[in-house]
Amino acid sequence: MNFCSNCGSSNIGRRVPPGDHLPRYICDACGEIFYHNPKMVVGCIAQWAGKILLVKRAIEPRYGWWTLPAGYMENQETAGQGAAREAREEALADIEIGMLYTHFSIPHINQVYIMYLAHLIGPKFGAGEESLAAELFSEEEIPWDELAFPVMRKTLELYYEDRRNGYFRCHSGDITYENHDRRQALEYAVSSSP
Ligand SMILES: [Zn+2]
Repeated sequence: MNFCSNCGSSNIGRRVPPGDHLPRYICDACGEIFYHNPKMVVGCIAQWAGKILLVKRAIEPRYGWWTLPAGYMENQETAGQGAAREAREEALADIEIGMLYTHFSIPHINQVYIMYLAHLIGPKFGAGEESLAAELFSEEEIPWDELAFPVMRKTLELYYEDRRNGYFRCHSGDITYENHDRRQALEYAVSSSP
């Protein structure tokens, strides 16, 4: 970083503050310490008549690939509100948020995913500004080879596994990657609620 967002000084250093254990950017003019922490991505599996809603991305990364509606959580909103907002923005869909479904840490890209089960309030949806298309899919119709992110593939695999078993459980896990390549998930460590 070049300038302090607190006082405008360009006198920025990077060191471990007293009592801390990681180097931080510190403004040497006003003393402000800048912490960079992981981002939360919130989204949902929106269900309607046995199918689920996917959107085709109109933005990079993974332009033209399919994913579940999800995006960065905003300040001043709850995770559930964020998931509902993303469904509205990306798929023009009004949804009712249900149970917390998956929670994944992805330390290589400093992200935490929180995905909910949800229901469409009506069969109304379409492509939002960040999407090329929004469509309902049955399990057989899911474009498994064109899914944008391993975390979404894993979430969908868990969803259909639970559905076959007749009940949904909350799943928590970590995803790690080789060479920071999001398409090459190395390892999933998932634990599930009873
Ligand atoms: Zn400053």
